[in-house]
Amino acid sequence: MAETCLFCRIVRGEIPATVVASTDDAIAFRDIDPKAPVHVLVVPRQHLSSLNEATDPSLVGRLMALGAEVARKEGIADTGYRLVINTNEHGGQTVNHLHIHVLGGRAMRWPPG
Ligand code: 5GP
Ligand code: ZN
Repeated sequence: MAETCLFCRIVRGEIPATVVASTDDAIAFRDIDPKAPVHVLVVPRQHLSSLNEATDPSLVGRLMALGAEVARKEGIADTGYRLVINTNEHGGQTVNHLHIHVLGGRAMRWPPG
């Protein structure tokens, strides 16, 4: 529900967040509980519950491109980073508004747990 959705509320400015990048259709802000030295969430302004609801491939492409732009701005593009989209229960999604994690600043483990 967009009215009560946590990330919709951040998009609307009702809940504070540290915004690091912004476009017409997305914002990027720091994760409140960072799992890496750089941990930013790229979020569409439009409420989409998960990647399953993202029917516009060009929007998904723009979100990915913003993730790469955030990596450049954060100075981790050359050392490397990981973009992650958790989807639904088995994917480990806890906030039901589509988001891409941008993780870097240290070596990422593979495979994830
Ligand atoms: P998920 O588990 O759904 O893939 O990722 C949700 C992410 O949102 C988690 O990494 C969590 O730390 C982050 N998060 C949860 N609540 C807040 C909040 O109020 N503000 C911010 N900036 N991040 C949050
Ligand atoms: Zn939402």
